Amino acid sequence: MQTKHYDVIIAGGAAAGSASAYFLTANPDFKGSVLVVEKDFSYQYCATALSAASIRHQFSTPENIAMSQFGTQFLRHFGSALAVNGERPDAAFHEGGYLFLASAAGMDVLLENHQTQKALDVDVALLTPDQLAARFPWLHTSDLAAGSLGLSGEGWLDAYGMMQGLRKKAIAQGARYIENEVIDVQRQGRRITGVILNDGTALQCGTLINTAGTGGPRLARQAGIVLPVESRKRYVFYFQCPTVIAGCPMVIDPSGAYFRPEGRGFICGISPAESNDPECFDFDVEHDLFDETLWPLLAARVPAFEAIRCTRSWAGHYDMNTLDHNVIIGAHPDIENLLFANGFSGHGMQQSPAVGRALSELVTYGKFETLDLSRMGWTRILNNNLIIEKNIV
Ligand SMILES: Cc1cc2nc3c(=O)[nH]c(=O)nc-3n(C[C@H](O)[C@H](O)[C@H](O)COP(=O)(O)OP(=O)(O)OC[C@H]3O[C@@H](n4cnc5c(N)ncnc54)[C@H](O)[C@@H]3O)c2cc1C
Repeated sequence: MQTKHYDVIIAGGAAAGSASAYFLTANPDFKGSVLVVEKDFSYQYCATALSAASIRHQFSTPENIAMSQFGTQFLRHFGSALAVNGERPDAAFHEGGYLFLASAAGMDVLLENHQTQKALDVDVALLTPDQLAARFPWLHTSDLAAGSLGLSGEGWLDAYGMMQGLRKKAIAQGARYIENEVIDVQRQGRRITGVILNDGTALQCGTLINTAGTGGPRLARQAGIVLPVESRKRYVFYFQCPTVIAGCPMVIDPSGAYFRPEGRGFICGISPAESNDPECFDFDVEHDLFDETLWPLLAARVPAFEAIRCTRSWAGHYDMNTLDHNVIIGAHPDIENLLFANGFSGHGMQQSPAVGRALSELVTYGKFETLDLSRMGWTRILNNNLIIEKNIV
């Protein structure tokens, strides 16, 4: 029997993989076939479905800002652009804003980021503690030096809804999805020739795209490439507050704790210190983190949060680029036709539209056409010319 051939095989069909499939099949210059291999159609463990589903323009890296700015534009037209047979998907995009708070110790970074962001047309304002107190009367401000508030373009959405909208539109445009796992990658010299699936099926491909999230390093190893990406566990806690907290944006506390409205309540979380952040694949929730660490921090920032009740929690995994916390996008110099989009480090949901578009351009034109992401490729990793993102949440 002849081995089936696809022009593009995408391994991993969540946000990044489905965005790639969507942009490829939407491009009239791309005439090929697309197969998305996704190992779990329930998507229950993928980062996309477990994320805090928020989008911000307040980064320190210009490319991260530009990717999220495109994400915002894309989300604003999501329903009409991705309608299938007149049915408009809803990503429930809410432009509620981000508020980065700084103590005196954090002012240099806040000001430096502000300059970078203003130069790139980010709609952001610096507020003094008095201005913060006037705008957000529920916020404790006496220990703050300033806050940086996103005035438009930033907010939160239904990440699962976004992914499903991309997936359905990609299928309507001709992409094929199968529920299976890529368990081996076949390479001859500088080219990938195909993949082996969990049921033993062998497939040939013109290009292989690695959008396998925390499964990305394994896929890379099968092709002989070491990807500096590890699975790092993060928790999200949902709580309710008896007091109305009006006009609450996504708030990033100087301690690193974050909270934002979600439905009738709020979600919150905090990243551990780097020294206490081992590679981890389980989904167990450390409930003490809420009681002993998060709750005191939240109540110190918003006194009304003294009375909150945590009713739900879950864990998910960042595909953490351990070198500089930024995505690695594009081909490795040793292999021409294996494209990576890995190491999102906690900001990949919002970057998926830009990354999917960028990968579709690499496949179709052999280069970035719209947004130049060449600095985010393998060269910086291999030359140790890292681009450290300072605004990690
Ligand atoms: C708690 C938490 C909060 C977050 N908050 C935010 C946020 O607010 N904003 C933001 O932008 N980002 C956030 N992120 C990060 C974001 O969720 C991810 O960066 C993004 O979803 C990555 O998408 P992805 O498609 O690359 O990976 P995933 O969503 O992890 O999908 C990878 C897919 O590949 C499949 N797969 C793996 N291996 C194989 C294989 N060998 N063969 C076939 N299929 C395979 C998996 O089943 C999975 O469906 C958060 C992440 C977590 C965990």
